[in-house]
Amino acid sequence: MGDALRAALRAGHDVLRRGGPSVDAVTAAVCALEDCGQFDAGKGAYRNADGGFDLDAAIMDGRTGAAGAAAHVHRLKNTIRLARAVMERTPHVLLVAEGAERFAREAGLEFVDDDYFAPSAHHDPAQGHGANARPSGTVGAVALDAAGNVAAATSTGGTHVRLAGRVGDTPIIGAGTYADNAVGALSCTGEGEFFLRAVLAHDIAARVEHGGKSLAEAAEAAAREKLTARGGFGGIIGVDRHGRPVMVFNTPTMARGTISGADGDGCVALFAGGM
Ligand code: ASP
Repeated sequence: MGDALRAALRAGHDVLRRGGPSVDAVTAAVCALEDCGQFDAGKGAYRNADGGFDLDAAIMDGRTGAAGAAAHVHRLKNTIRLARAVMERTPHVLLVAEGAERFAREAGLEFVDDDYFAPSAHHDPAQGHGANARPSGTVGAVALDAAGNVAAATSTGGTHVRLAGRVGDTPIIGAGTYADNAVGALSCTGEGEFFLRAVLAHDIAARVEHGGKSLAEAAEAAAREKLTARGGFGGIIGVDRHGRPVMVFNTPTMARGTISGADGDGCVALFAGGM
């Protein structure tokens, strides 16, 4: 898992080091995480109660406020690329199900067969967020580029135990994914229903924009009040407009990492306090 995280960090950092935009950096990092099969997204996606895959993703550009998302698609190799295409090639924000897949085919995106998905991704009702959750989950990336623009991207195969057709927070802009140059960029993981009810990513941004909090203070307060106090589990990664990373979670572990500077200094961690 550490190697997969480092590879994703490098993929994003390579873009930024060449002077590329944060939107490209988060796309590259999330694609690497979708492809590695070790997280609940892309190749590693969990199955739903019917044994199928429901893939969701979203991306947001903090410079323009543009956003794109896709939900309930089943055979996309990189759902984040579909979200990106929705953002850049349609007037819409969110496409779902058959229409989203038709659009993906027309956009030339790559589809995979059922046997592409990692064998460990079978539905297991014993798994869940909280004390017994395995150290894996939704993938996300946030970045600040040399031009001062932030972006966020998130991709998921959904929660372990869910009804077919369920959609979580990941593809809902403001719930699981949000970016605004005035605030920073945020990507969330955890029990999506809690993030949806609290519109959590946007709640954090609003605390910064209207409440004068730092992104770190805002994320900690929102997680405490809207997640932990309500019995939910999850975590948030963010970067503020000055490039300071923010990582908050109330789960036993959250695989996470940072990378910055021309030399790509960074670190990865799993347990609390490891950075
Ligand atoms: N937040 C995701 C969802 O609810 C799941 C996760 O982060 O593990 O779909």
